[in-house]
Amino acid sequence: MQAIGIDIGGTKIAGAVVDELGAILMEDRVPTPAGDSALLEDAVVAMVQRLSADRQIAAVGVAAAGFIDASQSLVYYAPNIAWRHEPFREKLEARLHLPIIIENDANAAGWAEFRFGAGRLSSDMVMLTIGTGVGGAIVHQDRLFRGGFGAAAELGHMRVVPGGLPCGCGAHGCIEQYGSGRALLRMAGEIADAGGIGLGLAAARERDEVLTGSAVSALIQEGDPGALAALRTLGGWLGEACASLAAVLDPQVFVFGGGVAQAGDLLLDPIRAAYLNVLPARGYHPEPEFRIAELVNDAGVVGAADLARAHFTVPGDPDAYSGGQVL
Ligand SMILES: [Zn+2]
Repeated sequence: MQAIGIDIGGTKIAGAVVDELGAILMEDRVPTPAGDSALLEDAVVAMVQRLSADRQIAAVGVAAAGFIDASQSLVYYAPNIAWRHEPFREKLEARLHLPIIIENDANAAGWAEFRFGAGRLSSDMVMLTIGTGVGGAIVHQDRLFRGGFGAAAELGHMRVVPGGLPCGCGAHGCIEQYGSGRALLRMAGEIADAGGIGLGLAAARERDEVLTGSAVSALIQEGDPGALAALRTLGGWLGEACASLAAVLDPQVFVFGGGVAQAGDLLLDPIRAAYLNVLPARGYHPEPEFRIAELVNDAGVVGAADLARAHFTVPGDPDAYSGGQVL
């Protein structure tokens, strides 16, 4: 049973035909038409038509950044696209005549990790995607947790500092301002300004005119003390956020995706240390695993396809995979 997953990103639209085991059978990608929702719709329709030619497709899942309603039909709000209360599912179904669901992109990526990646073998998983911002997904008892209105698991906007740094969402002190790729650059810049262990960061900033994510990543890999200090500070914030999340959700595994997670154990070690330091009833609470995401670039399309297939083909209990985990 094959399904199509589409992942609408800020710069590109990725699409794939995915089988029941999460394997990609065919892929496609095009640039995202900037700022024009009609052209965007045309691009998604054309991609589904290319991917579905000469194939039996069970369903299509479309992932995008934004708030999606609980029936997976309507995009309430998208940060990168001019969508406000956009009935995207209805529009696509009218043109494609295939069963379609819309899903938040972080939820789709989290679902892929739960089914086929770092979260498999668990029933309860929390994923944090550490990219430019911080995305989140929650799986509770083998099901994606969407909340009452469909906008749950916006973990990046969990407040960790009352009255803290302003966030793009309009609030202050969100973890996105302390645990994202953008936050890492800010922290690295502050360390560069201070001199001392920041000399390597300051030299990279001088060379490139601005401090870039790739320069900080390279310095982390080289063991530069300033870059490592910035990463430890970032991990400390994320570990504290995980302790709060564990108090509510009690997951067996935390999965970290996104570009910053490529630092691997250098990121996980400070997260784990901060988590244990602030965990309530430390020593009496079973410790969750902290893992790096495995599907990396494909998670969005694989998760969107799998959610769509489950929604339309699993009888009686759409979206649930109890007992159906792929090991
Ligand atoms: Zn926020």
